[in-house]
Amino acid sequence: MTTILDGKKVRDARKEVLMAKIKEFTLGSGGVLPCLAIVQVGDRADSSTYINAKKKFAKEIGAEAVHTKFVETVSEENVLREIENLNNDPRVHGIIVQLPLPMTMDKDIILDSIFPEKDVDGLCAENSKKWLEGRADAIWPATTRGIAEILDASSISLEGKDVVVIGRSFLVGKPTAEMCLSRNATVTVCHSKTPDLIAATSQADVIIVAAGKPRLIGASHVKAGQTVIDVGTTPDPVTGKIVGDVDFDAVSKVLGDTGMISPVPGGVGPMTVLALFENLIDACYNAKNNK
Ligand code: NAP
Repeated sequence: MTTILDGKKVRDARKEVLMAKIKEFTLGSGGVLPCLAIVQVGDRADSSTYINAKKKFAKEIGAEAVHTKFVETVSEENVLREIENLNNDPRVHGIIVQLPLPMTMDKDIILDSIFPEKDVDGLCAENSKKWLEGRADAIWPATTRGIAEILDASSISLEGKDVVVIGRSFLVGKPTAEMCLSRNATVTVCHSKTPDLIAATSQADVIIVAAGKPRLIGASHVKAGQTVIDVGTTPDPVTGKIVGDVDFDAVSKVLGDTGMISPVPGGVGPMTVLALFENLIDACYNAKNNK
């Protein structure tokens, strides 16, 4: 049987470590709880689902999550003012802006307005430069950190491996490709204009797919012994259930006993939420040490 890379199991194991760190931080700072501020613009159902998952997880681990929700038509100035307030609020240790933003807003201006030390998504210009350079002090975006940690939990080294990353978004594909490079993999990045996806994926040791295209990767894309990480989360239009980019059953059959695969749901999703709060706790300790 193909090994399942169980994100829930890994998350639960690492959650204990995170909770211990939160307790230590809270005691050591006179009862101040680690606090994540979430800024949402608009009312996208998927964004609200992800935000609720983050708020629920914060409660479970003993951290705080404050949520500011603006209507879609809010001005950029108002959003920037809120971020400025959160930047200057000593009770807030980390700030994220839930993406995507409405088309009318300049994502870069908004993201760059977050103080780098509070940018726990690692997406402002100063922080993204660090992960682009593969620096040791980089704040990796949560999904990328989650992918790295699910690989680590199964002792999957990327050194010297051929890794194919499908997707080149600033949020997932690019930082993930950089993370793989920083671990000394040989990385191929594919996207919607890649003419022959099968040629790329079939020679890889590890395939990481973040395209948001259900069942993009099927039996013909893979071979025995590969590791397949499915990042995709798309709600099925009929059932509403979340589906990945990989045809799990067909691909698992080909990967065989020596292959590994992450499921959707229950793979990268839980790891992303965990990693966000790991970034938050890192920010708390950095702030404390720099006082
Ligand atoms: P995105 O911004 O839409 O980027 C999708 C990428 O996939 C683009 O680079 C696109 O290529 C590429 N692509 C689309 N169709 C393709 C095809 N047929 N063949 C090859 N490449 C193709 O999406 P994203 O924000 O990166 O997210 C990707 C997926 O991951 C989504 O399902 C999202 O919901 C999910 N996600 C999951 C988590 C989690 O925690 N599990 C976190 C974040 C995102 P072009 O650049 O050429 O357009």
